[in-house]
Amino acid sequence: MSKIKIKTLGCKVNQYEAETIAEKLAQAGIQVNALHPEDADGDHVDVCIINTCTVTQKASMQSRQAIRRAKRAHPNARIIVTGCYAQTQPQELKALEEVDCVIGQAEKHLIPELIIACPAGQKKKLPPLPLQNQTNAKFDAPPPIISRHRSRPFLKIQDGCDAFCTYCIVPYARGRSRSMPFDEALARVGAIKAAGYHEVVLSGIHLGCFGQDLTPPRSLGDLLHQITVAQAIDRVRLSSIEPAELTDTILDLAVKSETICRHFHIPLQSGDDAILKQMHRPYDGRFFADLVTRIHSRMPDACIGVDTLIGFPGETDRAFENTYRLVEELPIAYLHVFPYSPRKGTPAGEFAGQVPAATIKARTRVMRALGRQKRAAFYRRHLHLETRALIEARRDRASGRLKGITGNYIPVLLEGPDSCMNTLQPVRIEKIGNDGQISGRLSNPGTAHYQSEANCPSH
Ligand code: SF4
Repeated sequence: MSKIKIKTLGCKVNQYEAETIAEKLAQAGIQVNALHPEDADGDHVDVCIINTCTVTQKASMQSRQAIRRAKRAHPNARIIVTGCYAQTQPQELKALEEVDCVIGQAEKHLIPELIIACPAGQKKKLPPLPLQNQTNAKFDAPPPIISRHRSRPFLKIQDGCDAFCTYCIVPYARGRSRSMPFDEALARVGAIKAAGYHEVVLSGIHLGCFGQDLTPPRSLGDLLHQITVAQAIDRVRLSSIEPAELTDTILDLAVKSETICRHFHIPLQSGDDAILKQMHRPYDGRFFADLVTRIHSRMPDACIGVDTLIGFPGETDRAFENTYRLVEELPIAYLHVFPYSPRKGTPAGEFAGQVPAATIKARTRVMRALGRQKRAAFYRRHLHLETRALIEARRDRASGRLKGITGNYIPVLLEGPDSCMNTLQPVRIEKIGNDGQISGRLSNPGTAHYQSEANCPSH
């Protein structure tokens, strides 16, 4: 029997696709394990799949490192490389001596068949698959499975992007925006509930575009509405949503219904209007500030997470300051801070005014410090409050305690019995440790459902 290992870099959609590959192989009786950097020779492996990312130069470099490490740890394994880097730079990857086979995004779902057709022990080389152009790719519906490893499975309902932000390689790697058929998305959410899960994380490359390509056109708001009306699942979380696509329909639903998690991850990228324009982002700082203020005034307990891209070409000290001030002033709960690096194949890679690496590093550090302050302040606002948390199916490795996650994305460790696992439980946030770790208490251990959401005061 073949032994397969897989390593995934990058976004949630890439992770989801890796899980889909693993699940298909599992259905064929082939076990897939995670490839760890510390893997050592001696552990016989037949195939290593490296599911690459190329969103930044660093991601590409880490993908190449993962390939080399895999070959070092498992010299006899065949190395299959797929993902966005494989789609955009196949020749670069084919030139690496460690690589046996490069497979593009459109053919990724065929990897299990490829491995099954070419089993372990068979010396035959993996047959090359022609790399398809992603421009007119169809939505690749994954098999009707859920995650084997998560209490909160992802469901990819959208792929691709038409936005062409000037720094981003993703539209070239994943093609045009396309959606899972509406009824199928609804049915899959129901299937996830039927399989015993309480939460689903809806994901996509440009999730807010869900449904726009369908006939008749639908929207993410429509889908969320149907999910709540049909009580298709207890909780729905959005992985990330562009500012202009977080519509009133979605916000109204989140205000009225406990089903929609009050957790909104919104990419800002820059708080400077000139930079936003250069990035080809369709909003300005004021629009973003209004949106965040509106969310907070309607849902003071909402967790609002923000992406920032630091050091875009032309980012002066003043422009950086504008980003810093905007984030500082708004009720943002956490930050993901990405240092800009020029990406070959994107317009911004050719822009004048590239910011020196040392400046980007320093600004990134300042921004991350602000992110830590914001997160700590958000957690402090929830101390001693009652909320409910989904208790994960595995205990925290270090402490042995239960791990829960609240609707507004607060991770909490709790004492309690195994019977609470994979249930929604009322919890009280009790303590924030020096390490930032949050401890809570089960308010009513053993109760499977708890109906009242936290009533959290504004800060
Ligand atoms: S919206 Fe912009 S940043 Fe996001 S995937 Fe599309 S092009 Fe990239």
